[in-house]
Parts: sequence; C-alpha cells; structure tokens
Amino acid sequence: MSLRSVDPATGKVVREYEETSDQEVARALSKAEAAFSEWRGRSFQERGRIVARAGALLRERAEPLARLMAAEMGKPLPQGRAEAEKCAWVCDHYAEHAESDLAPEEVRTDARHSFVRFEPLGPVLAVMPWNFPFWQVFRFAAPALMAGNVGLLKHASNVCGCALAIQEIFTTAGLPDGAFRALLVASERVGGLIEKPAVRAVTLTGSTPAGRSVAEHAGRVLKKTVLELGGSDPYVVLEDADLEDAAETCVKSRLINSGQSCIAAKRFIVVEAVRKRFEELFVATMRTKTMGDPRESPDVGPLARRDLRDALHGQVTRSVERGARLLLGGTVPEGPGAFYPPTVLGDVRKGMPAYDEETFGPVAALIAARDEAEAVRLANDSPFGLGAAVFTTDQERGERVAARIEAGNVFVNALVASDPRLPFGGVKESGYGRELSRFGIREFVNVKTVYVK
Ligand code: NAP
Repeated sequence: MSLRSVDPATGKVVREYEETSDQEVARALSKAEAAFSEWRGRSFQERGRIVARAGALLRERAEPLARLMAAEMGKPLPQGRAEAEKCAWVCDHYAEHAESDLAPEEVRTDARHSFVRFEPLGPVLAVMPWNFPFWQVFRFAAPALMAGNVGLLKHASNVCGCALAIQEIFTTAGLPDGAFRALLVASERVGGLIEKPAVRAVTLTGSTPAGRSVAEHAGRVLKKTVLELGGSDPYVVLEDADLEDAAETCVKSRLINSGQSCIAAKRFIVVEAVRKRFEELFVATMRTKTMGDPRESPDVGPLARRDLRDALHGQVTRSVERGARLLLGGTVPEGPGAFYPPTVLGDVRKGMPAYDEETFGPVAALIAARDEAEAVRLANDSPFGLGAAVFTTDQERGERVAARIEAGNVFVNALVASDPRLPFGGVKESGYGRELSRFGIREFVNVKTVYVK
C-alpha cells in the first residue's frame, strides 16, 4: 500500500510514499525504547540544546517548509512561513522552561522528606492532522522530548512529506537515532500500534470520531491519552462591542488556514440590538477576501482535499434548505482543485448543519440572540467546547461572560490562538488533557511521590 500527497490547488499527485512495513515498525519501536533509556538520562541543558537547534532549523527552512505545506495541503505561503516560526517559538520556549516546569516539588508532611518528581513515560505515539502539519506535531514534540520522552509520529496520510521533513529536522538537530520517528501508516493501523507494549501513551489531534476510536483502543490496554478534537467555536458579540473591530477579528478567525482550524470561529452569536449592523460589516469584510493558489499568497487557499470541500458544500446546501439566508458565496467554483469561497449564512438556527456540526472551511454561521443571557445559552448549546470569544467594551462583563462559557479557552475582544505560555485544550466532545504551558508538559510524565520516613 502507498500513501499519496495530492496538491489541492491543482488535483495533481505530488508524490506517493510506501507505507512503513510491520517489520520496519517493529524495528522503529525497539529503537525508540533504546533511545528512550539513553535520552531520559540526559540533562535538561543537553536536551534543550538539541530542541533549540531544531527551532533554529525551522527558522532557516521556513520558506521551503511553507512550500511543502502549500503543495501537500494548500496553506497560503505567508501562513506556512508563520507556522514554521511558531514551531521554532515552542522549541525555544520548552528548551528554556522545561526544567522549571518539571522541577521537583517539596510537600510538607510528617515525613523526613516528601516530594513529587516528574519522570518521563517512554515512547509516545502522536496521531496528527494535516491542517497545521508542523505546528500540531511540534507542540506535542517539544515538551514531550524536553520531558525525556521519545516520539513516534503517525501523521495524516496526505502530508507524508511534512512528516519526513519533521523527522529530518530532529535528526539534523542531533536527537539520538530512534528518538523521533515518522511511521507512514494508514489510520487502520493505529489501533495495532497503540496495543504494542513499547508505546506507553498516545496523543491525538483530529476529529471527534478519530478521538473516540483512539480512546477505545487505549482504554482496552489502559494507556494514557490526550485528545485535542474538533470545535465549533462561538464568538459572542454584545451590544456594547466595538463592531468594526469585532467584525474584522471575527472574519480573521473564521478564515485562519482557509477556515480549517479547530479554533477558527464558526458560530457568530450576535445580540439583536447590533445584529443588522454587524451582519453588514461582516459580509462586507468577507467579500474583500481573495481566494487562489496558495503560492500566490491569497487570503484563502483551497481546502485540503476535494472530498472535504464537497462535504462542506453539503453542510451549506442543507442549511439553506432548512431556512438559512445565503449572504455570500455558497457556490462550488469550476475547475480543478478543492476551492470553496468565503461564505456567510444568516438566520442560522438549531437543526441546521451550520449550527449543529463543525464546519471545516470558510463558512460563517450568523446566529441571532435576544440578549446576553440567550447568547451564552446558544454558545453552550453545542457538543463541542474548545474555544470561544466575547466582544464587549466592558472588561468586567467580558470576564463574567467568559466564566459562563463551556470551553477550554475563552478570549475577550481577541481571536482564540494557541500560545506556548498558555494551556490549550477542550472540554465536552472537543477532548481532554492539555497541551502547551506547564500543564501540557506534565501530561506525559509519571507524577511520582517520594516519601522518606
Ligand atoms: P482526522 O480525519 O480525524 O485525522 C486526524 C489524524 O487521525 C490523521 O492522522 C488520521 O489518519 C487519523 N485518524 C483518522 N481516523 C482515525 C481512526 N479511526 N483511528 C485512528 N486514527 C485515525 O482529522 P483531520 O480531518 O485530519 O483534521 C480535522 C479535524 O481535526 C477537525 O475536526 C479539527 O477540528 C480537528 N483538530 C483539532 C485540533 C485541536 O487542537 N483540538 C487541532 C487541529 C485539528 P489518516 O489521515 O490516515 O486518516
């Protein structure tokens, strides 16, 4: 079997990759175990030098890496360069902070000495998505490696070139042989990998169905999991918001990565008093956004695959059939590739796919709310709970509303974004566990109590 990268702007095959055989997987697992016993014994300074070197390589190679992302999954070049830079940031962050994040903690008890140590677990399997093909991997790998773990990457099947480029960066940076290995395997083989004794824990970033499947397999063999899953982030616009600024920020968030971000704004819940004005501003801003080949740096590139584009169009069509007003876009362009234009739906209500489901592309759902209380109710009326934003000029009100929203990340007057210094993750069907910050680096460690009588 082979895995294929297809350029989503042209529909042409970029490259085919042979799958990693079962024998090769077995070799990689025993190398990972051997690498772990050596790597865990290195000091934070030594590990930090290598992880920071990986960061420097990412900065140096930002341009070719951005071109690789554009070819394999359609990311516009400026966003690809920015992604490589952000990966370098997370490498630098953990190279500098891992030691203090994992410093032993003294606890006063009746013992002569009692304290908590944070020890690595071993080889961690990372099942990763194509949408941020470098960032998702580095935000797992930088803390996991700095904690003394080693990594096995099962990347999305359409970004094998990115998977191998990441492996190569770590090898060139000086990581021991086997300490970070890309396994080119289809998703059907993930369950079998989780069951291998060498794999000590699993992290998945991807859709909710993939998360359920990984959690089921891991549950059977009792292995720790972190799940970063889908989202349908609500952005609540209150009557005292700076509407121009809110519309600008909302559009920017909806169009991150051509709309294919777990934390892109998806549902815009606007109180009645400013609904009409916000709708005008929002549609006018979306209308100015360009769509085109990712190498020409448009605002919106193609979606990653044609089947995903067709599924998104189905959600739009069914929403319109159920009464949504099509305010912009909504038609599939002629020609090759997986393009879908910036699209706005008004009067979106429960029972429509644009309300009930995650829309993974440049489609905005405008939802009316009577007042703040109803806006909060609608924001929470979702199986997901990843990110959310609130727009108001009253900071205290913003913080009060933020406290009532069921989500892992709530931003006031800003779009939700991940940051190595802040924890990131979801609640409800958006998953569990956290990445980034000191919370993230403590996910794949043995929190060990030592008690000396
Ligand atoms: P996906 O289809 O779930 O794929 C993600 C990864 O899981 C891929 O490596 C995929 O491999 C693998 N996979 C798929 N089905 C699986 C299964 N049943 N068992 C084991 N592994 C499986 O998701 P995607 O379409 O690539 O990414 C989009 C989704 O990811 C969206 O829902 C988005 O919101 C979510 N996401 C969440 C976050 C977050 O931090 N919360 C960040 C980014 C994306 P194959 O490619 O071989 O199928």
